[in-house]
Amino acid sequence: MIKRVCVYCASSDFSDKIYLDAAYKLGEILAEASITIVYGGGSAGLMGMLANGALSKGGKVIGIIPQFMYELEWGHEGLTELQIVNNMNERKELMMMNTDAAIALPGGSGTLEELFETITLKRLGVYLSPIIFVNIKNYFDPCIQLLDNAIEEKFMDQRNKQMWKVVDDPDNVLNAIKNSPAWTEDARHFATLKKDKA
Ligand code: AMP
Repeated sequence: MIKRVCVYCASSDFSDKIYLDAAYKLGEILAEASITIVYGGGSAGLMGMLANGALSKGGKVIGIIPQFMYELEWGHEGLTELQIVNNMNERKELMMMNTDAAIALPGGSGTLEELFETITLKRLGVYLSPIIFVNIKNYFDPCIQLLDNAIEEKFMDQRNKQMWKVVDDPDNVLNAIKNSPAWTEDARHFATLKKDKA
């Protein structure tokens, strides 16, 4: 049962409309499936569209925003709940906590950083839920290629390729979550590629 997911996505209002529309649609889809969304709490860009899409369908949306961003009035005022935290690290931890999946829509360094931390924690067997790239307009292709290359060049184990799924449309997100292979704490035993000790 998928009850709660976190979504990482852009704060930019100026990206191609295709990305903004995808964020709104993902919000609608998650709300219609009665799934609670946890996200960065912003009102701008894909973040605002995601929240508004979900709220338009009566969804539950929890924003987690650092105090300084709240003071800059970057927070979305119409959410089910807006939690104000001390800093970016606290926010990331709370966003991820108890979620049944982490979903990444396109975004800038903030989105990529959140996504990569989640991938790293999954690799270490700390975060165990599915991770989904919503690869609108093939935005994530270079990022996925880099991860594949990290595996190819033996910086990561082949089994780490199981950690994420890539879909090209928000419509396919729920299926991708359901079809993601199970992941356990045992992943930490192949998190680093080490030579056997003599
Ligand atoms: P970016 O993809 O670089 O725009 O960063 C988006 C991510 O970083 C979001 O998932 C947020 O957690 C955080 N973030 C960056 N800018 C903002 C903002 N203006 N308001 C709220 N959160 C932001």
